[in-house]
Amino acid sequence: SKLYLREPSLLREQCYLNGEWHSADSGETFPVENPATGAVIAYVPRMGVTETRRAIDAANAAWPAWRKLTAKARGGILRAWFNLMLEHQDDLAMILTTEQGKPLNEAKGEIQYAASFIEWFAEEAKRAYGDVIPTVANDRRILVVKEPIGVCAAITPWNFPAAMITRKAGPALAAGCPMIVKPAESTPLTALALGVLAERAGVPAGVFQVITGAPQQIGDELTANPIVRKVSFTGSTRVGAQLMAQCAPTIKKLSLELGGNAPFIVFDDADLDEAVAGAIASKFRNSGQTCVCTNRFYAHSDVYEAFVGKLTEAVAKLRVGLGTEEGVTQGPLINEGAVAKVESHIADALSHGGRIVTGGRRHALGHGFFEPTVIADATPEMKVAREETFGPLASVFRFRSDDEVVHLANNTEFGLAAYFYSRDIGRIWRVAEALEYGMVGINTGLISNEVAPFGGVKQSGLGREGSHYGLDEYLETKYLCMGGV
Ligand code: ADP
Repeated sequence: SKLYLREPSLLREQCYLNGEWHSADSGETFPVENPATGAVIAYVPRMGVTETRRAIDAANAAWPAWRKLTAKARGGILRAWFNLMLEHQDDLAMILTTEQGKPLNEAKGEIQYAASFIEWFAEEAKRAYGDVIPTVANDRRILVVKEPIGVCAAITPWNFPAAMITRKAGPALAAGCPMIVKPAESTPLTALALGVLAERAGVPAGVFQVITGAPQQIGDELTANPIVRKVSFTGSTRVGAQLMAQCAPTIKKLSLELGGNAPFIVFDDADLDEAVAGAIASKFRNSGQTCVCTNRFYAHSDVYEAFVGKLTEAVAKLRVGLGTEEGVTQGPLINEGAVAKVESHIADALSHGGRIVTGGRRHALGHGFFEPTVIADATPEMKVAREETFGPLASVFRFRSDDEVVHLANNTEFGLAAYFYSRDIGRIWRVAEALEYGMVGINTGLISNEVAPFGGVKQSGLGREGSHYGLDEYLETKYLCMGGV
């Protein structure tokens, strides 16, 4: 089960700290498994508080020289990193698929998406403009400058092992901040491979570091240490809230990208074929394991049966299998807990009168594999109405009026992504404005790219990633009042 790479040196079993590759002080490691087979791919260091503290000190030491470089000089180094990611995209995708499970072409798409953040912010940091404000007195001038916030930490999830790192490290490094990344336990190998390429691109020692190990211990130090000025986290709302509390005593800046419960509304004037294509993209990408994946489909009663019929036909065409196999569209879920959650949501839906139209069971391939599933006659009493399934389960609810469906869509503590299909321009404006979400897809199921602001409202998080807004998250605003003019 050894994985074949053109360049085997991209696979690392040590952490990248202060420009060097290190094992844990204790020598301890933990295994990284292939979710499609259960086979161990590699062992990575189980680091803790001591190594984290050392990484923070190294980042702090590297900060002055890094911030002193011009944005153009930092951008040049980042561009070299971007080029290396594209050059090695096949190997990076292979590592990603092997530890995460998604189909190889989706993994390659993620590497390109991940690299795009490095490219975008390498360019954008040159435009971190300040301001000159008309004065209130003749002997003074009022100036505003933007400065890098300082040492940053990122704690990232397993569903996008590359992109969730570059979406944070790109703007941090471009702005002049060093960054320490703690990747998810399930997917550290992609993160370490990015470290190899950062080193090769000429990112100075301590500016980009990757530490693997005990989440609690590393997280405690990253949030408590006063040298760290900013923490950026993507993951569950539960852990996000905990990290926010841990950051409170030292008043750290925070970016949080947390859970969602995305609604997808099909109005009676929608193009149903386009709606189904968008539904498949938004629901079944990454086997349903993205925070912007649709969790609740709402179809108008006049088009309900037609939408369910077409959706079922499209779902039946999805192919479940090993991510490395040609033609596969659905890889395994990340682990047994993820599979059990999908099963429990299906059982709960059935007990409340739901109807399985297709799928519904573990896939014959075993491990993390699950049949893509459609449940009709979904109701608000079901778990699927309230909780993020994070798997290949599409539940379809019925509605009759615009007001009713907007109320249902907003009736959640989350507010990340929402989608709807309609051709009526008045309705499009009214619904787009009424949805309490950070991102709204109108007649599309795919909304993520590096030039647009990604993020949520309510309990889905704080701050925005990507776009020029994403750079602000790593900059402080400093006011200079010049007297004696
Ligand atoms: P998921 O449900 O996607 O696994 P989590 O929020 O559990 O989401 O994990 C996201 C990231 O947060 C991972 O890198 C994980 O290791 C990390 N994490 C989990 N618990 C903690 C914690 N107590 N302190 C710091 N990081 C944590």
